Amino acid sequence: MSFVSGTFSVVCNQCGVQTDFNSDEADFESTGGSERQMGPENGYSWESSFNCDCGNEIEFDYNVHEYPQGAFNHEDVRITGATVNDMFTYDFNDEPEQEDFE
Ligand SMILES: [Zn+2]
Repeated sequence: MSFVSGTFSVVCNQCGVQTDFNSDEADFESTGGSERQMGPENGYSWESSFNCDCGNEIEFDYNVHEYPQGAFNHEDVRITGATVNDMFTYDFNDEPEQEDFE
């Protein structure tokens, strides 16, 4: 899944150091969808954890919802051990549904 760009930044609650994730480090997986009035709603999530240099363990569960298809609907990050400082930007239209070029 490469519909994200930009940087996801979190700030450690213990030492205040910021950790940045580039969009190519993100590993979003489809969490399936549901049918709604304007068509399918698709969900993507990326769960990860890491240890800050201070030893604090930071865990997050980053959820993005696409609805209607091709449009960003909402995002939500559940995080422990840190505070979110910056989020990715999304472009669902860039994601080819089929290999219809090259
Ligand atoms: Zn820290």
